[in-house]
This record gives sequence, structure tokens and C-alpha cells, in this order.
Amino acid sequence: MRLFDSHTHVHFPAFTDVDRIMKHAQETDLGMLTVGTLAHTNAAAVAFAEQYSQVWAAVGIHPSHVHPLSYHDEHELPEGMTHEGVVRADGSIDLSDVEQYLSHPKVVAIGEFGLDYYRLPEDADAAQKIKDEQKKAAAAHVKLCSAHHKPAVIHCRDAHDDMQQLIMAEIAKGGLAKRGVIHCFTGTSEEAMKYVELGFMISFSGIVTFAKSLQEVAKTVPLHAMLVETDAPYLAPVPYRGKRNEPAYVEETVKFLADLRGMSFDDFAKQTVENARKMFSL
Ligand SMILES: [Zn+2]
Ligand SMILES: [Zn+2]
Repeated sequence: MRLFDSHTHVHFPAFTDVDRIMKHAQETDLGMLTVGTLAHTNAAAVAFAEQYSQVWAAVGIHPSHVHPLSYHDEHELPEGMTHEGVVRADGSIDLSDVEQYLSHPKVVAIGEFGLDYYRLPEDADAAQKIKDEQKKAAAAHVKLCSAHHKPAVIHCRDAHDDMQQLIMAEIAKGGLAKRGVIHCFTGTSEEAMKYVELGFMISFSGIVTFAKSLQEVAKTVPLHAMLVETDAPYLAPVPYRGKRNEPAYVEETVKFLADLRGMSFDDFAKQTVENARKMFSL
């Protein structure tokens, strides 16, 4: 593989031109990890990975989907599709949907899961309840990673302290042997370095092509811990900003990061492919 998109959602309904995208991926030797976010998209991710030799899948429950959907994202879910969340009546977390795929040969990671405190209700009690249930769901995913020897694909927004505590507690118990990746990282250099010290990799999306503060972070993360992703259909890099993103655009972010770090495109691309192979045992 020449390039690897370490986090994409190419199996989402946003992509009605999959044949063109995958033909181009084959021609340009682009590999990818396509990532599920709830029951429907987990099933679709696994089915998609079965069709293409250079696609692998991750399955998990996105932190925004721990609870029943309060919005409909037409890029993610077909019209009329609902989702009930994973919190049982007794407050426990039901990950049976995720578990059913974990012995599938193309399922190489668990995720995306994590913590997202970006959009919480105004009411403090309601916000706290959501945070607590997201933490419970994240902890349940982390336990699955330990039990099934899979790396974690972590989504974390405005919640790095809580996430690092959770990870450290599991590592202290001898878990998370395969560690994982913090996807679409937008935190500080200090937060990034803490994850790297814990054995995690940091994945940069197209945001790094236009966010100055993140560019400073991307200069400091060690090369052996760097991954590159699109998070397509979201977050297209410069020069495609504002358009629907797609896996091929990972090339723009790789180009940008190579320049930023004073490396050749080929050397940087090769290193990120090697990192992905190592992280996901490809
Ligand atoms: Zn995410
Ligand atoms: Zn994602």
C-alpha cells in the first residue's frame, strides 16, 4: 500500500459513487479502515470490508450514539432509520451488537467509541448523566478491546482528561495490550504526548491543513506514532474544504504533513502505512 486512510466511513449512504471511489483506491494503492458508529453502520462496515481486499473494518458505538438519536444525519444513516442507544433500563451497557463481529477476519479494531463533551445539554444534571453514561460505554468498549486483543479507535472531543484516566486504569490492570489510536485528534501537544507515552498513536485529519494550532501539535508527535485519516464524508482537507470528503483526499493531508515536517511525501507516506500495519496488524 502506498497510502492508508486510517479512519473513514466509505460505507455510509453519503457515498453513492462507491464504484468510482474504490476503482481509484485500487489504482492508487490506497488502503483504508472503514469505521462503524452504531448497529446499522457496523453491519455495513463489515459487509463493505468483505468486498475489497484493501479495506478493513472497525465496529463500535460512537459516543453520540450511546443514547437514542436526537437528530438525523443523512450522510450517516438512510432516511427513516432510528437508533435506540445502548443504555439498558438498569443502566448497564449493551454491546452485543459490537461483540458479534469481533471474530470476523476483516474486523481489526474496536471503535469508534469514546467521549464527546462538545454538545451537552445546558442543564447541569442532564449533562452529567450523559457524561456518566458515555464513560460507562467507553469503559465497556475498553474492556472488549482487552478481552479480544483488539486496538481501540477512540473518538474524544473536549474530554481528554477523562479519557486518559479511563485508559490508564485499564492499562494498570494489564488490559489494552494492543493500545489504539486517538482519531481526528484536535487536542494540545501535552495531551498528544501523554497518549504517545501510553503507547497510543495520534491520527490527524484534514483539519490539520487549516488549523494553525494543530499544525504545531503535528510537528511534535513522534513519527512512529502518526496516522493520517480523512474521516470522510466529513472534514475535507484543503483544497477540498467544504466539499464532501473521500478516502483519496488523504493524499492532501499526507502531503501537507510531510511538508510541515520537512520530509519527502514518499518517506512520510511510507511511515504512516507502516504505522497503520503495525497498529491494526494488517
Ligand atoms: Zn469520530
Ligand atoms: Zn468517524
